[in-house]
Amino acid sequence: MSIPVKLSDPRDVVALKRDGRPVPEPELRAFVQAYGRGEIGDEVAAAFLMAAYIRGLDAGETLALTRALVDSGSTIELPDLGRPSVDKHSTGGVADGVTLVFAPLAASMGLAVAKLSGRGLGHTGGTLDKLESVPGFRTDLSPDELRRQVREIGCAVAAQTADIVPADGALYALRDATATVASIPLIAASVMSKKLAVETDLILLDVKAGSGAFMKTPSKARELAEACTKLAAGWDRRARIAVTDMSQPLGEAVGNALDVAEAVDLLSGRGHGRLRELTVSFATQAATALLGLDEAEASARVERALDGGQALETFARMVDAQGGDPRVAEDPWAVLPRAPVVVPLWAERDGILGAIEAEEIGRASVDLGAGRRRKGDPVDPATGIVFRARIGDRLGAGDDIGEVHARTEDGATGAVRRVLAALTLVDHEVERPPLVYGWIDADDPRGKVGSWVMYAPAMGRGSSDPEGPRSVQEGDS
Ligand code: URA
Repeated sequence: MSIPVKLSDPRDVVALKRDGRPVPEPELRAFVQAYGRGEIGDEVAAAFLMAAYIRGLDAGETLALTRALVDSGSTIELPDLGRPSVDKHSTGGVADGVTLVFAPLAASMGLAVAKLSGRGLGHTGGTLDKLESVPGFRTDLSPDELRRQVREIGCAVAAQTADIVPADGALYALRDATATVASIPLIAASVMSKKLAVETDLILLDVKAGSGAFMKTPSKARELAEACTKLAAGWDRRARIAVTDMSQPLGEAVGNALDVAEAVDLLSGRGHGRLRELTVSFATQAATALLGLDEAEASARVERALDGGQALETFARMVDAQGGDPRVAEDPWAVLPRAPVVVPLWAERDGILGAIEAEEIGRASVDLGAGRRRKGDPVDPATGIVFRARIGDRLGAGDDIGEVHARTEDGATGAVRRVLAALTLVDHEVERPPLVYGWIDADDPRGKVGSWVMYAPAMGRGSSDPEGPRSVQEGDS
């Protein structure tokens, strides 16, 4: 039985959710759009968000919310690109520079990447801030400039304009102010609305799990991944969604120019480690889905594009097209800004690195100026942290595990202290976390690609996993 709700009184929508009853699509849609237009006050919308946070939204409501968000603004069509198009997005992590490498890499393999990116959020870094550390780099491309560049070069990374999913911008700010961000349906609708508003052939989503992510456990991240999968399927869009580890920084660089230099290393075929592995994994998924290659062929092609210089060349062309200094691709530190104070990070004692509060490392970098404490704050392109140790590494007292790049000696000393305090050293061997817990393919009738690896990262000080530590289980599919 449908429940009559007159939107003339938006409190009826709040009351339905408050009482745990489903909100019919027309009412939910009208509510969201009226809020986006400023016709509903923050107090009523905040009450709805809290009710949704506590009561949850079912799959139908989540889809209806996503539709309302997408329809609140314009969408970007990508006709006549002459190549299949892919978008890649991460839910946010620390030292997550995958997009910087993925976009030119995928483009160099014949795919089109029209990427609308965000700025750093909380402790997580943002692709736009990183790219803007290249002198002259412009991210304010119009939809026409974006399309033209993608046709010519194969990739472009630009800022989301105010007319794409504006209701999400307004609701996200209110969630941030009312402690209602960490809700699976609200995050799924927010993330996917921005992906669905750009009409690419494939959406790749990286749902992060662990101490440096919004979802602290792999099982919560998997729930979010499944909610996003349902939205893509409900929209009839192809999507492959991974749950990946964020119990430690993904790459080594936590900053802006530092990340660009690390990306150039990877694009030159020099860099190795988890950041390269994950980037290769995403590019391989894109190539299997869109170029019809099998997995072995696809990953060999990806590796060749990195090691053979094609990905780097495409990166240089992208930087040049967006007004940046393309010499960054040959000699990054000839053009990137450097921080005046660089202090080494040394392990305090002998032990095995058992856990990392990755969020704290992200926050320490934000406080060095590499991120924003408040929306609109400027970011310092030069500062940040390089952190090289990995969970499971055996460290000796005084071992070099990274550097802090700061404006002042005091800033550097404070950050060194915070990074060292974010590490848990133990006296026994620890399991290294997997890089990818699993993939879900929204197209696959079985709903999954590969098998899931569920793993409970060792808990760092002060972190709480409501599920408690568990042992490694394989093939949880
Ligand atoms: N990123 C988003 O875009 N939205 C969320 O709700 C969380 C992360």
